[in-house]
Amino acid sequence: MSEKYDFGQKFPNQTLQAGECIFREGETGNFAYIIDEGEVEISTLVNNKYTVLNILKAGDMFGELALVDGSPRSAAAYAKTNVVLTIVTSEQVKTRIEDADPILKLLLMVVMNYFRLETGRLRSAKEESDQISLDNTKKEYQEKIYQAIELIRLESDLRSGFKQNQLVCFYQPIIDLKSNLIVGFEVLLRWFSPTRGNVSPSVFIPLAESTSLIIPIGEWLLEKSLEAILQVKKETNYDIFLSINVAQKQIYDPDFLNIIKEKIKHSSINPKQIKLEILERSLFEGETALSLVKNCRDFGLPLVIDDFGTGYANLSYLKNFKFDTMKIDQCFVKELENNDKDEIICRTLINLSQGLEMTTVAEGIENQQQLDILRSLGCNYGQGYFFSQPLPLDKAIDFMKQY
Ligand code: C2E
Ligand code: CA
Ligand code: CA
Repeated sequence: MSEKYDFGQKFPNQTLQAGECIFREGETGNFAYIIDEGEVEISTLVNNKYTVLNILKAGDMFGELALVDGSPRSAAAYAKTNVVLTIVTSEQVKTRIEDADPILKLLLMVVMNYFRLETGRLRSAKEESDQISLDNTKKEYQEKIYQAIELIRLESDLRSGFKQNQLVCFYQPIIDLKSNLIVGFEVLLRWFSPTRGNVSPSVFIPLAESTSLIIPIGEWLLEKSLEAILQVKKETNYDIFLSINVAQKQIYDPDFLNIIKEKIKHSSINPKQIKLEILERSLFEGETALSLVKNCRDFGLPLVIDDFGTGYANLSYLKNFKFDTMKIDQCFVKELENNDKDEIICRTLINLSQGLEMTTVAEGIENQQQLDILRSLGCNYGQGYFFSQPLPLDKAIDFMKQY
């Protein structure tokens, strides 16, 4: 067997030659691994004799126990053939475990314990015969584990994709329904993965949010947005605003607002030109959210309550937090021309906003009738495929020039 491979800084994807050591028994473990290609041999010493416990193939994960409970490696792993591995960092696993609810943590420990016993059982079975028996219960776990593996893979791809500039900001025009002018854009993320194609933000944003990856992505998106505002100004001479979606994890991040303030101060941009869209469901009563909202206001950053009415439609949020804009979700707009109830809901939301001195944006406008109704109800701004799909920056600027 050749020398142990140094994973050092080189994750997430690694190629190893047949015979290379991935880890030895008794070592502390900092990584877990998913096999993308090839085979890995898991072995241990039984009565001082080198004994193979298992041969793992593409799609299998190994080394995860040490990551979860910090215990030493209970077996060694060698590349049996040339292998390609996706490396799972302890951050990817630990943040999730730390954030998990206590019952989930407990269940995880039970499952982990089960696997440890299973490995121990295999090891002692090895001493008696050469037959490795796979328990049926283990197969039941397998299914769930494969689902988790797929998510971790997706996240590893997202992590490296972000570094390799696969994330792109798209811009969807927001139109002033009175003047019919484009006054701003909503920034919507796109991920063009060379292997997975165009992955929907509703898939990868929650994933980025479940680790801390959303933080650097959010910072990058803000930089891009500030550049975009300047670019639009340069090419059209208009001062537009950009509406940025903020994830719950960002709201909780103690540095979040300071970073925004710093970046805006270092640009020549008025804070009014960056609006933060906060989902109703990521709001909560309590100090963190209240002080964030207050600090945003003091700095002059407008706040938009996004998707209002799709969660608990908690009116006390509107009472306790001062928002500048309410965004009417597309679920109330998409059948607006055929459904009286939708019209009543839109009218009520618009009246409520006006009473509380907020402006309204309706999203998901797809046809002229919907636009006419919203206009007659006094909705201030609109956004949707009827005007334009979200566009890359150069196309968004072209659209502005032609509009
Ligand atoms: P959202 O904030 O509610 O964004 C509106 C979604 O509606 C976007 O989907 C947009 O492309 C789509 N849309 C716009 N006009 C129409 C229309 O006329 N008809 C229909 N059927 N759909 C329309 P998208 O881009 O797939 O984004 C989905 C969600 O992902 C967003 O929902 C937002 O919650 C999240 N997201 C996107 N970018 C970011 C981001 O940078 N940060 C965070 N935290 N979340 C993001
Ligand atoms: Ca939004
Ligand atoms: Ca929405």
